Amino acid sequence: MEQFQRIILVHYHEIGLKGHNRASFEKRLQKNLEALLALYPVVTIHRVSGRLVVFLKEGTSFEEACAVTDAILFTPGVARVSCGFKCERDMAVIGQAALSALADAGDFQTFKVHGRRNHTDFPVGSMDINRQIGEVLCEAHPDKQVRMKDPDVTVNVEVVQNAAYVYARSLRGIGGLPVGSSGKAVCLLSSGIDSPVALWRIARRGATCVAVMFSGRPQTSDAAEYLVDEICQVLAKNGCVGRLYIVPFGDYQREISLLAPPSLRIILYRRLMFRVAEAIAVREGAGALVTGESLGQVASQTMDNIACTNAVVDLPVFRPLIGTDKLEIIAEAQKLGTFDISSQDAPDCCTLFMPRSPETHAKIPVVEEAEKAFPVEEWVKELMEAAEPHDYACPSYKPPKD
Ligand code: ATP
Ligand code: MG
Repeated sequence: MEQFQRIILVHYHEIGLKGHNRASFEKRLQKNLEALLALYPVVTIHRVSGRLVVFLKEGTSFEEACAVTDAILFTPGVARVSCGFKCERDMAVIGQAALSALADAGDFQTFKVHGRRNHTDFPVGSMDINRQIGEVLCEAHPDKQVRMKDPDVTVNVEVVQNAAYVYARSLRGIGGLPVGSSGKAVCLLSSGIDSPVALWRIARRGATCVAVMFSGRPQTSDAAEYLVDEICQVLAKNGCVGRLYIVPFGDYQREISLLAPPSLRIILYRRLMFRVAEAIAVREGAGALVTGESLGQVASQTMDNIACTNAVVDLPVFRPLIGTDKLEIIAEAQKLGTFDISSQDAPDCCTLFMPRSPETHAKIPVVEEAEKAFPVEEWVKELMEAAEPHDYACPSYKPPKD
């Protein structure tokens, strides 16, 4: 069989992408994919009539093309990915390319051909493309049936200005919006199961994410920091996180645990975390905070206690998991590839100086009174200065100018 140049078509949803929005969305996705695919056998990526076309190097194998496809499928903003070939605008050649495309589509019983021409300078109309290419495929596959409604495989033939694109293998992407199209968010990221999923969901909606992790160091080891770094590496595979700040928090928790009423400790830790995260957000020029909270999951996540921590910040706090059950979060973490990392045990500040019976219905004035014992403003400054930045590959992330 003749070897054609392999291409991958990247489709995105067009809903809500009109006018100016659409052009910047496309450019963002193109830049993200260019960076993401730097190590793959890609020649170039072009925008062609409402899709991106990834041109693969000559001689790229089916397996290599599948690896590129997999990388693209999990990129935010990608609705669908199709793999196929670019060939000459000649019906005999298109027929050969259609056979190759169908061979890559996997098992099937029924199929149809869907022809289109973007330029009427091509003499064959779409109905004739369907009929003629259909005949070629029927001849090669006498045991398969043509079916117009819901076939197992659709062989697409698109005639564009200087070439034809022929593809049959098509897979659904994860959708969402390209990272970098919805602003910047600061995510409170622990080594637990929930917060990596929360970050992922916000990145999938197009936010460039900066993570902040509060470590129990120096009161605990730095083991949890390594887990969070591993989690960020997984998230960075699809360009979802640009930077992680690790904040050594153990000494401050110790101070709080020594002086504050035990039942209020957790709320006081969390109010301090939120203040530091907001200060980092201001420095980063981020527009929101993100947490992995889920209503009622643990003592700190009751409505009253959420109100107590929320009260210390002005930025909107996004909680993408607030209405999600633990089992659903676990399933998502498994798909994302962070679950096994999060399941490893490491002492972190979540397990440090925990009270036996935490308050579940804290009242803001009572918490504020208890907090008066601490130089909160000074602490926020100290913690900001102590925050250690770690960078990841994220094409839309720009570090703050200090
Ligand atoms: P997770 O599984 O994300 O750790 P959790 O079920 O342990 O969540 P909490 O400990 O109440 O619940 O934390 C709620 C949210 O607060 C987390 O999802 C995360 O966004 C943030 N958070 C908690 N601990 C830390 C930490 N050590 N560093 C950064 N953020 C944290
Ligand atoms: Mg946790």
